[in-house]
Amino acid sequence: MSEPTWLVEGLDHIWLPYSQMKTAPRPAAAVKTNGVTIHMGDGRTLIDGVASWWTSAHGYNHPHILGAVREQLSVMPHVMLGGLAHEQPYRLASRLAAMTPGDLTRVFFTESGSVAVEVAMKIAMQYWRNKTGESRNKFVSFKGGYHGDTFATMAVCDPEEGMHSLFAGAVASQHVIDLPKDEEATSALDQLLAEHKDIAAILVEPLLQGAGGMRIYEPSTLRQMRKICSAHGVLLIFDEIFTGFGRTGAMFASEKAGVTPDIMTLGKALTGGVAPLAVTITSEEVYAEFHDDDATKALMHGPTFCGHALGCAAANASLDLFENEPRIAQALDIENQLRTSLSPLADLSGVEDVRILGAMGAVEMVSDFDVDKARADFIDMGLFVRPLGRVIYLTPALTIEAKDLRRLTDGVIEMARRLSAP
Ligand SMILES: *Cc1c(COP(=O)(O)O)cnc(C)c1O
Repeated sequence: MSEPTWLVEGLDHIWLPYSQMKTAPRPAAAVKTNGVTIHMGDGRTLIDGVASWWTSAHGYNHPHILGAVREQLSVMPHVMLGGLAHEQPYRLASRLAAMTPGDLTRVFFTESGSVAVEVAMKIAMQYWRNKTGESRNKFVSFKGGYHGDTFATMAVCDPEEGMHSLFAGAVASQHVIDLPKDEEATSALDQLLAEHKDIAAILVEPLLQGAGGMRIYEPSTLRQMRKICSAHGVLLIFDEIFTGFGRTGAMFASEKAGVTPDIMTLGKALTGGVAPLAVTITSEEVYAEFHDDDATKALMHGPTFCGHALGCAAANASLDLFENEPRIAQALDIENQLRTSLSPLADLSGVEDVRILGAMGAVEMVSDFDVDKARADFIDMGLFVRPLGRVIYLTPALTIEAKDLRRLTDGVIEMARRLSAP
């Protein structure tokens, strides 16, 4: 089957994400999507187990989102948010403020998750300057965490996963420590905050660390963190870019854990996978330190496409779907099905651990395997699944039907068996 010309010619010019271009296998051409199906250039169809880096919560080409974007496109694709107001971002800000927990009420728009985390970090640092004049430039984050690929966010990722060593000297040094899951780690965190008065905030992915390996931890850990932050007067930032919008089986992981942060970031599924958009949301209390007659207390940040009208139209339509369709119930159904089908894999000798939370199921193998070959084998099975290191995971659209999810879990079971065979 011959490849399309655009692919053959473009391969000499495109620089792909997370790829050693010399040795990376040739990517297969996708030409059309619908629901949880990706149609390939050679006529094959794949059931999508990844939802395009966890973004397409309602499946691809949802007519309600496409309709909203088309309508916005025909009226006004975008105008800048500096000096002009337009409906989509204003409406979206009100809706996000109403639906997020506690008094998270002030919404700042960016175009990517990494930048939303950078803005959260900038807000946390400036909060202290504005409030007390202190220069607090340090953050506490956790091993196994992932917060983005930009320079400030690399510094708060897991040091092994992030590019710390490669960019040693250029990336700020931050406190990346163990999650306070036991007494020892909890008192270590407490101690750290007691000794270092230059810490602006704790930054964490609540309940589920995604890109760092689909690791789950208990809500009680977040409650500990909240307690410690409040005791030391340090801000708590939840990076819900992966966990937001139903992935953990609640609208937000913070809601599931019953813990409200001072700042929250959202991205990925925000637009239902249709457009790049992210937000940083702060509490009234944090925002109040910026709201002043003094111009120097303002937040000096403004992406070119801040509050992009098409992205915000897609996000508003996505929120309609969360309101009008049973997405959370669907996520919980997915959780049940993942549990029933994948949990028995824990008995295989080659399997280290099976982890399931909401619409995320992960099977961690004991040893490394050829990830490129596994990805190609999944495609041969008619499935799109992309293991992360030793972790084979599924994060399908929340709308996936039981029979399609069954095909995905059957594929994962088959792969885990093959990889376990001596
Ligand atoms: C993906 C992700 C990011 C980075 O988002 P980008 O849009 O890729 O910049 C940050 N934090 C978490 C938890 C993520 O999953």
